[in-house]
Amino acid sequence: MTIDEKVDKTLSDLGVTDAAGVAALFAEVRAAMEQDLENLRARGAVDQSERLKMAKDTRDRWLSRKNGLVSLADENWLKKAPQDLKPAVGLAFNQLRQFGACMKVEELVKVVRLLESRNDIVEQSRNISAASTRAEMQGREDAVAPVSGSSLKARVSSGGISTTHDLTLPGLRRPLGSIHPVTRVQREIEDIFLGLGFKIETGPEIESVHYNFDALNIPESHPSRDDFDTIYIDAQTLLRTHTSPVQIRAMEKWVKAGSPGGLYVITPGKCYRNDNPDATHSPMFHQIEGLAVDTDITFGDLKGTLDYFAKKFFGDETRTSFTPSFFPFTEPSGEVAVSCYVCGGTGCRTCKESGWIELMGCGMVHPQVLKNGGIDPEKYSGWAFGLGIDRFTMARYGINDIQLFFQGDVRFLEQF
Ligand SMILES: [Zn+2]
Repeated sequence: MTIDEKVDKTLSDLGVTDAAGVAALFAEVRAAMEQDLENLRARGAVDQSERLKMAKDTRDRWLSRKNGLVSLADENWLKKAPQDLKPAVGLAFNQLRQFGACMKVEELVKVVRLLESRNDIVEQSRNISAASTRAEMQGREDAVAPVSGSSLKARVSSGGISTTHDLTLPGLRRPLGSIHPVTRVQREIEDIFLGLGFKIETGPEIESVHYNFDALNIPESHPSRDDFDTIYIDAQTLLRTHTSPVQIRAMEKWVKAGSPGGLYVITPGKCYRNDNPDATHSPMFHQIEGLAVDTDITFGDLKGTLDYFAKKFFGDETRTSFTPSFFPFTEPSGEVAVSCYVCGGTGCRTCKESGWIELMGCGMVHPQVLKNGGIDPEKYSGWAFGLGIDRFTMARYGINDIQLFFQGDVRFLEQF
């Protein structure tokens, strides 16, 4: 049913029985009004007489005393409204009439004329409606002077706050945002390690080959360098493939400060690899690494720390398992698996019936890497681990596609 048909009926004919229904109905009328304005703007006119005619037609359609849509709404909706709906209808009608001020002939002519001047059309015609609405509300019809760009602006800016603004009008409701799930899990992991006395270190995402590979014991000839299908900026600069370069930077900083106490840091951040996006890969992803360097660090410290972390993150029942692995920057190296957080270790689809889920790599820092960071491996030892925050987030929330994190789809994000 069109608006024209609706204003011929009463509210009860239309099935409008409550305030929400009234609001929706008047919103529809207002939208129709705005659509007519839009149509005028879009059409333009050849000359002054056509401008006048178009403006008059539109004006009559809305404001004509006898059969204008506003008058009919007054007659059939407001006057015939049941007693309990009267306040709501009265308020909505009043607001409509105020906005309707921009349907007066002189205002509509300006809308059309502005279009022809082709000068910042949309903006200015919006200003006209806004300014004239304001002028109307202030009861100052005489304030509507012939339009030029500058007088328009002056009028809009001097419109200011009117003492007759209807303070009962609803305000603008802005949708509330929420913390991104990856950020949420990153903070959770950070909190656990901060509680153990670790500090957060960050570094540049555009990194030198030296920090990203060479200093980490991955020389150019090393086959594992090929595993990082990397996004280079030039021969010596690249988007970092892991957050490990921050470990070298942290070591250098610590040595420069005179190696106070031990070095205990975590390094959260974005990493980049030339991976095709699919359910488990993204060219941009998040890592967090941990590094502990001190005079008497052993593999036992590493196991104890990661076991504590796993229990804190996945729950007290969680068990950890360490299996040998290889990384160029640690020796010995290991993979850490946690008992399946879905089935508790009895076997299910998530853990592929194994009862375990592999979640991170770790190991004792390679003596050469300590040296590259300016640390004497005879005096100090250290351990390090690295994990993917995105994978942890998928595990935490049972998400099966990493792409969901980076598509910005509000329907996904608002669930967190
Ligand atoms: Zn399982």
